[in-house]
Amino acid sequence: MRTSKKVLQEEVDDDEDLLERAPIVTVMGHVDHGKTSLLDHVRRENVIAGEAGGITQHIGAYSVQLEGGKVITFLDTPGHEAFTAMRARGAQVTDIAIIVIAADDAVMPQTVEAINHAQAAGVPMVFAFNKMDRDGANPEKIKEQLANMNILVEDWGGKFQCQEVSAKNGLNIDELLEKVLLESELLGLKANPNRNARGTIIEASLDKGRGYTSTLLVQTGTMRVGDMILAGSNYGRVKAMFNERGVPVEEAGPSHPVSILGLNGAPSAGDSFLVMEDEREVKNVAFKRQQLQREQSIRTQRRRTLEDIGDIIQIR
Ligand code: GDP
Ligand code: MG
Repeated sequence: MRTSKKVLQEEVDDDEDLLERAPIVTVMGHVDHGKTSLLDHVRRENVIAGEAGGITQHIGAYSVQLEGGKVITFLDTPGHEAFTAMRARGAQVTDIAIIVIAADDAVMPQTVEAINHAQAAGVPMVFAFNKMDRDGANPEKIKEQLANMNILVEDWGGKFQCQEVSAKNGLNIDELLEKVLLESELLGLKANPNRNARGTIIEASLDKGRGYTSTLLVQTGTMRVGDMILAGSNYGRVKAMFNERGVPVEEAGPSHPVSILGLNGAPSAGDSFLVMEDEREVKNVAFKRQQLQREQSIRTQRRRTLEDIGDIIQIR
């Protein structure tokens, strides 16, 4: 059938249309080393949220504005599964990874895993040596352990930025975020806000009374209420859009996370979405993708059934 692949293909932007965009940051590290505490602190201190007097809702991703006006978008999905699940679906969402290591502990298995994930994805890392308020904190020991993994931090003559912090009392979190911004400048992150939006689904759920709610991250272009979007094998017209504080917004540009209402189902985390003008085309592609999914699940079921029969025969 003639589903124009062209429509789904990425258009190439002219250089002069590209504008600076905020970095998208994921926090990773070993369990109990302070990922959630760090994200919570950043969210609480958020200048924009403070001004609006609102409490940041949990929507899987949020943008924070720093004192100088710069913005950082955090993916609030600590957990390496989320990172790998997204990558497995071909979604490259993270620009920079903050690797949290408790300075009173050590480089642990999930620290190594986090570093491996970031390196495999080619995502630059900034290290946060956390729990500096604790007596046993020994960041030099951590630096040495990292050096043994061929990761040299700046004050050891390497290229990796690191910052001693305390997520508990907020010590040096601003400095950490400044380093993230520096990393972002080096990357020269840009996007064209003046085109149809494209991006990635962060999470989606069925909300009683409100219908399907999807949190998504716009990566290029600008999404507006009323836009027709295709997201994985789901589609719909954006009925309403909210920022991380639950405030309705009319549009969302590059690196902005929003939750939207209007999709006909819940796409999976890591599915890409795009705004398309032709409603028939959107339905067509969504329908074909659904069909493909159904066929695939039938095929795996069949294979399983055959395997089960094989097992039974063997048992006999
Ligand atoms: P996560 O598993 O990496 O998300 O770690 P959490 O943020 O849940 O923190 C694990 C525990 O360490 C909690 O009891 C936190 O209160 C504590 N914690 C986190 N950051 C700090 C810190 O900077 N200093 C101290 N003293 N405790 C911390
Ligand atoms: Mg946690």
